[in-house]
Amino acid sequence: MKILITGGAGLVGSNLSKRLLDEGHSVFVVDNFTTGSEENVKSLQGYENYSFCECGIESPDFIKFCEKVGCDFDRIYHLACPTGVPNIDILAEEMLISCSIGTLNVLRIAEKSKARLLFTSSSEVYGEPEKTPQDEKYTGNVETTGPRANYEEGKRFSETLVAHFVKKYGLHAVTVRLFNAYGPNMSLKDQRVLPRFIQQALRGDGLTVQGEGSQTRTLCFVSDILDGFEAVISKGTPGEIYNLGSDSAITIRELAEFVIAAVGSESEIVSVPRPEHDHSSRMPVLEKIRSLGWRQKVDLKLGLQKMIENFKLRLEYPVVHNVDTAPQQRLSLQE
Ligand code: UDP
Repeated sequence: MKILITGGAGLVGSNLSKRLLDEGHSVFVVDNFTTGSEENVKSLQGYENYSFCECGIESPDFIKFCEKVGCDFDRIYHLACPTGVPNIDILAEEMLISCSIGTLNVLRIAEKSKARLLFTSSSEVYGEPEKTPQDEKYTGNVETTGPRANYEEGKRFSETLVAHFVKKYGLHAVTVRLFNAYGPNMSLKDQRVLPRFIQQALRGDGLTVQGEGSQTRTLCFVSDILDGFEAVISKGTPGEIYNLGSDSAITIRELAEFVIAAVGSESEIVSVPRPEHDHSSRMPVLEKIRSLGWRQKVDLKLGLQKMIENFKLRLEYPVVHNVDTAPQQRLSLQE
């Protein structure tokens, strides 16, 4: 199949690219490296069926790129959006523009291509949940101008746009709400909890637990996320939304202890201030995606082990090449 991935330099996008390339598909990736990393794109060099264009999905260059390669994709995975809690302020406009103009552009390309589209939304659409666990019908506890609104409302707006394209144009589009994905290829600069804790533990620095660390998260390893994508894009109902993650919760303090033990580190836990807008808990109801046959396979122990190995390797050898044959195609729009 001919597949477009937006945001293909991030954690999920780069692992998805590799899986699809290994399956023999032609993979076209766009990313502007706002929070994705070049290292992830470089690591795929050598796959002949991989093409990359550095551009934002809100830019005319994105449309030009899609047209240049034929605008006839079979599938589109729309992942592009800056991530990371501190970036909600720092990259406010980038998030809002990516979720609005960017998503609109991607949907138009999907419509023109007659492609199946999977959009990655987020558990952030539930805001600070008043009930746990959260099912897809829960409308959330969010504010249009709240401290996390740029991301929360951005993702909500994208979901509405996707639903509109399904209704108006009959687009075969599905939405998944991701709950705290983790795994190899997370950027070393990523401010999310696991990349920070793992690097702190590897360096022997204190693990910065925000507040008392009693807040909980459910963490889902990236290969399980990719299995979920396959289930939803091939068997999901157009216009439907599916939670995707783990329903096994851990407190952030327990997570810090778990990382210290897994690394075999001498690090200690240090308490640092907790942002006021931090969410206290998040956990998905997973019945809907399980009805498509999806099951979580990788537990936290195994997933963490794989991520730690990957981080050790990348800290030692900054660019990891997966294959060493022909260089990837980087398409220039000027040609
Ligand atoms: N967190 C922490 N120390 C850090 C980074 C994050 O204790 O150095 C906590 C944060 O307070 C939150 C949880 O880890 O409760 C998950 O934060 P993350 O930024 O990974 O993403 P979120 O789930 O909030 O979107």
